[in-house]
Amino acid sequence: MDLPQVLPDDQIERALVVTAHPDDVDFLASGTVAQWTASGIEVTYCVLSDGDAGGFDPAVDRADIPALRRQEQYRAAGVTGVKTVDFLGYTDGALEVTPGLRLDISRVIRRVRPQRVVMHSPEINWPYLPDFHPDHRMAGEATLRAVYPDARNPFAHLELLHDESLEAWTVDEIWMMGAPHPNHWVDINEQLTTKMHALYAHTSQTAHIHDLESIIRTRLVRQAVDAGWADGHLAEAFHVVATR
Ligand SMILES: [Zn+2]
Repeated sequence: MDLPQVLPDDQIERALVVTAHPDDVDFLASGTVAQWTASGIEVTYCVLSDGDAGGFDPAVDRADIPALRRQEQYRAAGVTGVKTVDFLGYTDGALEVTPGLRLDISRVIRRVRPQRVVMHSPEINWPYLPDFHPDHRMAGEATLRAVYPDARNPFAHLELLHDESLEAWTVDEIWMMGAPHPNHWVDINEQLTTKMHALYAHTSQTAHIHDLESIIRTRLVRQAVDAGWADGHLAEAFHVVATR
């Protein structure tokens, strides 16, 4: 397997995580995020929808779900040391790769100016299809197009430059979550407790899953095995691609 050229963390000042729903980053990458924030990297979350189609409890008024899920993501971000969460307010379950979504993600990229972007994979991972909502792939594709070419092209989305003074910005590397062919793994043994607390913050999504920690552990162990590591490790998996 060809391992990617990954920038060392000490060359990263800012990272941006773009996800489809509140809770995605906590299932897929929050151990890694907690490691980064602890080492001084400023991490921003951009969540495209409010997860308004989520939840499990019919007693909760559906009208309350978007605000509830924003609050849960704010709390989880607090657990992992993330200070800024941007919600773009798209409809859960209806994400499409539109020029408007590309513009909105490009705006966030130009404002945050991240060296590293964490995002969903736009590729289908067939063996795990039920884990990968179509919104994830749409979010991945839209983010990819925002990273290249939109955010770096001063002539794309001219209103960003003219109306909002947001200059073009080139992202150095993307880290795709849920990708069918991961090529980079982060050992999160020491962040497991933090990751679980972040997941528990999403009460509307996780309170009914009584064996959540063992489900999460099983996945992290499997990914560590994929990485070729010795027993006893827990890994979050990414497909990292240089984009500069
Ligand atoms: Zn999701």
